[in-house]
Amino acid sequence: MSVSWRFDGDDRLSGVGADWDDFALANGGGGCVPPPIGRTLAEFISGPDLCVVWRAILGLSRREPGRALSLTYRCDSPDERRIMTATVTCQDRAEVSIVSAIGQRQPRPAVPLLDPTVPDHTGEMIRMCGWCARVKVDGWVDVEEGCRRLDLLELESGPLPRITHGICDSCRAAVTGGLDLVGGKSLAAGLRSA
Ligand SMILES: [Zn+2]
Repeated sequence: MSVSWRFDGDDRLSGVGADWDDFALANGGGGCVPPPIGRTLAEFISGPDLCVVWRAILGLSRREPGRALSLTYRCDSPDERRIMTATVTCQDRAEVSIVSAIGQRQPRPAVPLLDPTVPDHTGEMIRMCGWCARVKVDGWVDVEEGCRRLDLLELESGPLPRITHGICDSCRAAVTGGLDLVGGKSLAAGLRSA
């Protein structure tokens, strides 16, 4: 299953693919049905630093219309590790399309922290990288390891912290290093021509 978004020249959502509703409902994103057309990128992406990276990706795509950029990122469901592949292409009039598909999936015991239907939340926040899905718990660690350290792998553990998204240091270096944010020309390993 793939899901697609289109953003206009002002980075506002201008359209979605036919699978949008099914994908959102299957992944706990019922709040995104119907799709929030007209909303800006910043309203979709919770972390300002992550938003900067996505703006740069859209900008790079607009500078090279017709070139497909391929990005790989991690986006787990509660009971599955998932590697996603996003293809970013600028179409006409500065509109950029992002088509995201599940590349690899691996079942695992459910991680309650990632389940949006678990209602109880503490006031605590846990930072998750929007690229590699690691969480910051004494450094950046895999989400399962982070939950193990914080004793959050059992639902009976009590209320869960809320997730706030950002980008970890190594992903920032890998992605922004290739995005010409500071005038460089190279593309990062994670961002290659499709
Ligand atoms: Zn990361």
